[in-house]
Amino acid sequence: MSTSNNLKIDTKNLWPSNVERDFVDNLQAIVARDIAPEGDRIDREDIYPTEIVKSLAKHGYNTLTLEPEFGGGGLSFLHAASAFEEISVASAATGICLITIYQAQIMIRLFGQESLKQKYLPRFAEGLICAYALTESNHGSDITKLDTKAVHDSNGWVINGEKHFITSSMATEFYILLAETEVGVSVFAVPSDFEGVSKYTGENSSTFGLRNGPHMNVIFDNVRVPDDHMIGTEGKGVRQAVSVLNYSRTLAGAVSLGVARAAFEGALAFARDRKAFNQRVVEFQGIQWYLADMLTEIDASRLLIHRAAQSLDSGDQVPRWGSEAKYKAAAVATYVASQAAQICGAYGIMENAPFGRYIRDAKAYQVAGGSAEILKNTIAKCLLSLSGLQDGKGLR
Ligand SMILES: Cc1cc2nc3c(=O)[nH]c(=O)nc-3n(C[C@H](O)[C@H](O)[C@H](O)COP(=O)(O)OP(=O)(O)OC[C@H]3O[C@@H](n4cnc5c(N)ncnc54)[C@H](O)[C@@H]3O)c2cc1C
Repeated sequence: MSTSNNLKIDTKNLWPSNVERDFVDNLQAIVARDIAPEGDRIDREDIYPTEIVKSLAKHGYNTLTLEPEFGGGGLSFLHAASAFEEISVASAATGICLITIYQAQIMIRLFGQESLKQKYLPRFAEGLICAYALTESNHGSDITKLDTKAVHDSNGWVINGEKHFITSSMATEFYILLAETEVGVSVFAVPSDFEGVSKYTGENSSTFGLRNGPHMNVIFDNVRVPDDHMIGTEGKGVRQAVSVLNYSRTLAGAVSLGVARAAFEGALAFARDRKAFNQRVVEFQGIQWYLADMLTEIDASRLLIHRAAQSLDSGDQVPRWGSEAKYKAAAVATYVASQAAQICGAYGIMENAPFGRYIRDAKAYQVAGGSAEILKNTIAKCLLSLSGLQDGKGLR
């Protein structure tokens, strides 16, 4: 590609900040220094960026919304969404490292006993790495029945089973896990150094997108955990897991938004600098219309994510907004990344260009963490409830 000049895209006005400008500026400086240079390597080598994640924790980004009494920032989910977006402009894989950390943290905050909160929540500010283990080989979208079992005895719980596709498992120090007890699916906290916990790279562990290390298979072989490591109410695990997903879906939407922004900026810079038929590619009206559509979609998804983030702070219709935000943002990122490659011509298809990574990361998030179909089920369920009919019985 021939680039003609050093013109800078006015990103401050292209992506106006929805939280204090300083918050975004400070994070952008860290992202530019520590994450952007590593984004391609993390994806190519499929590695967990431990150093980056630990450093983000030191700067407070792993605990933005956690109460200050546990070492958190006590900030809003609008701040968290903004942080996930900025980090994922450089590396969606790093974004999902934080997703599984926030999932674990939110589960303990919402449902954990006081002793569990005191034990683990302060460790998040120190950089505790976490994974959120729901899926099994026979149970993905439908987690109402599980093959992983937990049995209670006089010394606490004993867990047996195997989880698949577990994001962040390569480096995790702590699992939030779903297992079935006598009364139904329940949630457990399991540090990875407890006896009987092991993991291996299975034949389905390598994904083509959201590559923060292989999404490994994790075995729980007679793993013993104390009573307070069962989180919330026995048998209410699916409801609790879905409540946490409703939080993380908004943040996942912000990860997709970061991918869309990166792809858009790449295409805009290319079209501005590349010449064909004696003019800049961006001067072709056909290309301008592509860009106009892409920007409009990104803006729409950004507004939806901000609405969803506000609902996490206010508690207003969280399942609806969270599902809409993730569903829309993942679709927009998939569309924008593909169009961005198109605008860049052959350069867009090159292995050394970032567009392949954007397309792969965007597509992967149309499945991971709640597929588009499951999200539409949730949105429809909310709609049925609002229609006055019923509470969406039968739809998950
Ligand atoms: C990159 C990546 C990371 C992941 N990370 C994790 C993780 O950290 N922890 C974890 O527990 N899991 C993880 N998963 C697994 C993920 O959550 C599941 O893949 C997802 O829930 C879908 O389950 P499944 O693959 O078994 O598909 P299935 O449930 O078998 O579904 C197959 C197809 O049917 C559709 N479908 C299923 N049910 C319905 C329905 N009721 N209505 C309409 N359509 C339906 C699905 O949307 C999908 O298109 C990850 C997956 C990927 C790709």
